[in-house]
Amino acid sequence: MTDAREVRTACPYCGVGCGVQARVAADGTATVRGDPGHPANAGKLCSKGSALGETLGLDGRVLHPEIAGRGTSWDAALDLVASRFSETIARHGADAVAFYVSGQLLTEDYYVANKLMKGFIGSANIDTNSRLCMASSVAGHKRAFGEDIVPGVYEDLEQADLVVLVGSNTAWCHPILYQRLLAARAERGTRIVVVDPRRTATAGECDLHLQLRPGTDVALFNGLLAHLVGSSAIDRDYVAAHTSGFEAAVSLACADAPTPRRVAETCDLDSAEVSRFYDWFAATARTVTVYSQGVNQSAHGTDKVNAILNCHLATGRIGRPGMGPFSVTGQPNAMGGREVGGLANQLAAHMGFDDPQAPDRVGRFWRTAGVARKPGLKAVDMFEAAGDGRIKALWVMGTNPAVSMPDAGKVRAALKACEFVVVSDVTRTDTSQFADVLLPAAAWGEKDGTVTNSERLITRQKSFLPMPGDVRPDWWIVTEVARRMGFAEAFDYANPAAIFREHAALSAFENDGARLFDIGGLADIEDSTYDALAPLHWPFPRGASAGSQRLLGDGRFPTVDGRGRFVAVRQEGAALPVDAAFPLVLNTGRLRDQWHTMTRTGRVPRLMANAPEPAVELNPVDAAALGIADGDLVRIESRYGGGRAKVAASAGQRRGEAFLPMHWSGRFAANAAAGALSAPVTDPFSGQPELKHVPVRIAREPVA
Ligand code: SF4
Repeated sequence: MTDAREVRTACPYCGVGCGVQARVAADGTATVRGDPGHPANAGKLCSKGSALGETLGLDGRVLHPEIAGRGTSWDAALDLVASRFSETIARHGADAVAFYVSGQLLTEDYYVANKLMKGFIGSANIDTNSRLCMASSVAGHKRAFGEDIVPGVYEDLEQADLVVLVGSNTAWCHPILYQRLLAARAERGTRIVVVDPRRTATAGECDLHLQLRPGTDVALFNGLLAHLVGSSAIDRDYVAAHTSGFEAAVSLACADAPTPRRVAETCDLDSAEVSRFYDWFAATARTVTVYSQGVNQSAHGTDKVNAILNCHLATGRIGRPGMGPFSVTGQPNAMGGREVGGLANQLAAHMGFDDPQAPDRVGRFWRTAGVARKPGLKAVDMFEAAGDGRIKALWVMGTNPAVSMPDAGKVRAALKACEFVVVSDVTRTDTSQFADVLLPAAAWGEKDGTVTNSERLITRQKSFLPMPGDVRPDWWIVTEVARRMGFAEAFDYANPAAIFREHAALSAFENDGARLFDIGGLADIEDSTYDALAPLHWPFPRGASAGSQRLLGDGRFPTVDGRGRFVAVRQEGAALPVDAAFPLVLNTGRLRDQWHTMTRTGRVPRLMANAPEPAVELNPVDAAALGIADGDLVRIESRYGGGRAKVAASAGQRRGEAFLPMHWSGRFAANAAAGALSAPVTDPFSGQPELKHVPVRIAREPVA
């Protein structure tokens, strides 16, 4: 028996990206605590993170490869996957296959999956569940900044005098970041404004809660831009020297939302409260605006992001201490996926299809002539194509679209209809039941690589447990398939460090500074240095001694003319308005103690204790009008699906609106699943689905 040992790694849940110390006892059991040396959390963990040690069991694990539900060898499974993908491509073309991956993958896993699909298969049909999380922020950043850049760092929330949280229940969804904000507020009296249709735990503690009508964020921030102009709070020198498009954006904003009173009407707010917010924003130089899924998960998500960015461009509050727009991501490695180009509209290393030179540049680096030249299918379109026969072979890696995708019933039908479905995952999921080939993937604690959190901080995620059964890491599974498809030379990696080196080298390849994502300083990192890599921010170009903390603070943007771009946006009506048949607006979101479709947190009794079953929140007046009492069982239906849930009457819900947690799945088949109710309606720029505004009806279930 060996002595206990400690391994520093990173939490696999939200985008805060907390550091974790795993202590492995001599008997092989592991416990976790926060890593006091990690800059994101300084030793703290939230309820989910502190329960990580209780998710390490083998309950529900996939331990061996399976073909058609029967155990098989790795060779047989990999041969079949490679041959079916190769045959499909030969017969129907590269666009007849697709990968649907996950923000749970490590950067190295993501890199090889993206390289195989875009570089060697020659299609861009690789998309990710991060499409459901932050794609609108990516699109908004690209429109305004020229590149998908989060300019700030967490410290900015501690150095700000005003923090505006838009569509973000930070207290529950990014708990450690929220605790940092509250600690700073106790010291410096930071004002907190929450913009959210629900009175969430976060809204309960703020200085001003703007409980706006869902989907009216553009009007609120257009009104703010108009107010900044009228109150002389515009940084005219900054606007003149560093931006373009100011006049057009202001002109549209002033027409759209000319006064706080008009904004109040549109947003269903008190005009005095709108004015108070505007006055605070205008008068407070150190302002950070945080936005999350409440902004992104919308048919107008990209416009919402740009409405926010316009206000920061107008005041020059970008990338400076205590100032800036700040997109926080839901998943642990949503940012890492963006770095490698793991979205269907990205190519690699922050290069996109909008740059005509990029495919050849990436092809030169990967030494392939077959690089994809046009964007692939985004998540919703990908499953549509799997259902109608355009996608004939689909590989789902580490995610559960049978539950999490909007119109999940149709997604299940698509998975059933698709000719060949591969699922690689840690546990059996609602999706794995559709797999022709099921591949056992390494879990948190068993796999090795890097993740990047919402503030661009790269952290090692390390293995501290042996892989059970025949389990293998995702990067190994992808490279073994790639080799069998005839690309052995390009996928000859000894370990994750080798993949990381290549990823870092690509970020610096033919990069004369035009692209800010550059970690070329890590391109020659030795295995031992990689193994011990301390958290560091990107960019980290060659010759750097430390990663860059803030970006864009010098007013230079990675656009063609070097200027940040205002985007003229207008408030649009709801993509799916309520009507007589479906009169309530359904909003969906997370609970404090659960993670995604509960494949891990659902196994921890103490995390299940607070909310053991899904409850639909309803305003008590609406509930009474429907003859529903608190705790009653109801049927909730949209045009896409339905299910049952108990009602939790909540004065924190606006009248006419309902809220359902996103976590429950087919494992609780009779229960309402948010994905099954949601519509496959997407933002035209980002492809992100509308998950916050779905018309539903609710009625009491007859007592059996
Ligand atoms: Fe994990 Fe997020 Fe909690 Fe930190 S805040 S412990 S990253 S779930």
